[in-house]
Amino acid sequence: MTSTDLQTALTKYAEAWDTTLTEKLTGIAANCPHCGVFASFDQLTAAGIAAGTILAALQPGGVARQLIQLQCPSCRRLSIVASAYGPPQGGKRSLSLQLLWPPTIRPDRAPETLCVGPRRDYDEARQVLSLSPTAAALLTRRCLQHVLRTKLKVAPSSLFKEIGEAIGRSELSSHTRTALDHVRQIGNFAAHPTVDQAVLVTDVSAEEACYTLEVLERLFDDLYRIPDQIQQMNSRLKPGPGTPVNP
Ligand SMILES: [Zn+2]
Repeated sequence: MTSTDLQTALTKYAEAWDTTLTEKLTGIAANCPHCGVFASFDQLTAAGIAAGTILAALQPGGVARQLIQLQCPSCRRLSIVASAYGPPQGGKRSLSLQLLWPPTIRPDRAPETLCVGPRRDYDEARQVLSLSPTAAALLTRRCLQHVLRTKLKVAPSSLFKEIGEAIGRSELSSHTRTALDHVRQIGNFAAHPTVDQAVLVTDVSAEEACYTLEVLERLFDDLYRIPDQIQQMNSRLKPGPGTPVNP
């Protein structure tokens, strides 16, 4: 099944934009950020905006141009896009398109049995990811620490040491263990070994915060989803009393 989020489709569209073409956006194929249906988006309206507004700051050195409304042909809801010209390179202008509304939120991959508090951390991390990667990373680490303590029963310590204990554990796949070690490197935990990194504020890039969330979701798979699936299959295959076995 094809799946492209609207911002990715807009970025590709802008990259392929030819300066001789009109800026009117047509035929942008993407999943609707509201209803998720894969559809072709066309420009509904465009309003000019003055250069130097806050929107210009979306693209450093860029010049804000227009606010564009796209409408989903399926649910009819609107998405708002800011268009801006990037600084000319080699005498050519480049176009950039930034989805302003609705905010892009990562799909929910939390297991149903995750406790209320850590689930709230995970949900908030997904919501603030595009606005504050550092806040998202902090919330993700707090949830990750809860998962390590409750599911792997690691000895409560600093997150640096707790991850150290977890990466030696056979309940985790080898990819998850390697990825967990990356989380320590992302947070530069080694520089603060005695502080609990679950609450330590250090600058984290959007890519790093996203990776930290992905690692947490790997733990959800290894420690909740896969064991639950196997447990269910076990009880389904276990012969009940009176069930003939290999008659
Ligand atoms: Zn829609």
